[in-house]
Amino acid sequence: MNSELKDQHGRVKRKLRLSLTDRCQFRCQYCMPETPKWLPRDSILRQEEIVRIATLAVTQLRITHIRLTGGEPLLRKDVVEITAELAKLKSQGLEKLSMTSNAARLDDFAVPLKAAGLDDINISLDAIDADLFQTLTKAPLQPVLNGIAAAKKVGLPVKVNAVLMKGQNQDQILPMLEWAAAEGVELRFIEFMPLDSGHQWDESLVVTETEILNAVSEKYDIKVLPKGHEPATRYQLESGQTFGIIPTISHAFCGSCDRIRITAKGTVFACLFSQTGTELLPLLRENADDEALAKAIRGDIWNKHRGYIDHPGYVERPVTMHAMGG
Ligand code: SAM
Ligand code: SF4
Ligand code: SF4
Repeated sequence: MNSELKDQHGRVKRKLRLSLTDRCQFRCQYCMPETPKWLPRDSILRQEEIVRIATLAVTQLRITHIRLTGGEPLLRKDVVEITAELAKLKSQGLEKLSMTSNAARLDDFAVPLKAAGLDDINISLDAIDADLFQTLTKAPLQPVLNGIAAAKKVGLPVKVNAVLMKGQNQDQILPMLEWAAAEGVELRFIEFMPLDSGHQWDESLVVTETEILNAVSEKYDIKVLPKGHEPATRYQLESGQTFGIIPTISHAFCGSCDRIRITAKGTVFACLFSQTGTELLPLLRENADDEALAKAIRGDIWNKHRGYIDHPGYVERPVTMHAMGG
């Protein structure tokens, strides 16, 4: 049956975040444990399984946007082939194919990804100070800057996401805004969510939307822009520069949530904060037909709770951010 994918609260799902791997060469404190245990390779979705799920999502469940994520999607050897295969779905209802990446390998991948049909890319960058970046991620800043330059050069639209944590990088708010203006890229600040593997999250570490606006307004006049479909609230400075804030903690936007997530091992999660998911891998490897796969996805999504408001704060979850894909 070809029909919209809906949850019990009437929210229609249009966006799929598809994780290509749980592996990553960065160790961002808010995401990755210091000594991560990677999924065994044979439990990761194969290229043909990813293509099958994406095709079903577009043709049967009316998903219109797919975002490839991870872990770090550019660590996957067949990332360009996967991108090219999924881009073919644009003739069947897919409107946009995007990626979220740490950009460390983007210098090598920008040209082939653009040629394969990638429409745009979100890049994580939590500090523009090189030493602080290294402290936060355990990785050097320069390859990321090279990756951003490569994406811009090839005409791949770039947005930059920065997760802010008190006592770590909130002093980067103004320097990052100024860097984004000079680069001509849109910056979005993300509130730190209780999904870090190290269980350090505490509400007092969240730099809230209000605090971000206070920091920016010390130097600039800010105008709020009308709310669109994106989770970010967008703002404009007098210069015309725009930026966004994703306020998952202080102003959860769950009432309009149109996303679903599928992890690298093929588990469907209706929400970032879901306590359980539905495994598709056994179905895929037992040659289940499309109807059975679609039914499994629809069942999981239908039972979706309201969102963060139902599970605020730190609770044990079966999956952390590097496994979920953000
Ligand atoms: N490795 C890629 C990257 O960093 O862009 C893609 C995967 S990463 C898990 C996706 C997004 O999740 C990134 O923008 C990252 O900043 C965000 N993220 C990870 N852990 C987070 C947390 N605890 N709170 C808020 N955002 C988080
Ligand atoms: Fe890797 Fe992205 Fe997680 Fe950082 S946020 S550790 S880059 S998966
Ligand atoms: Fe959607 Fe869950 Fe995020 Fe709310 S917390 S916006 S329901 S994914």
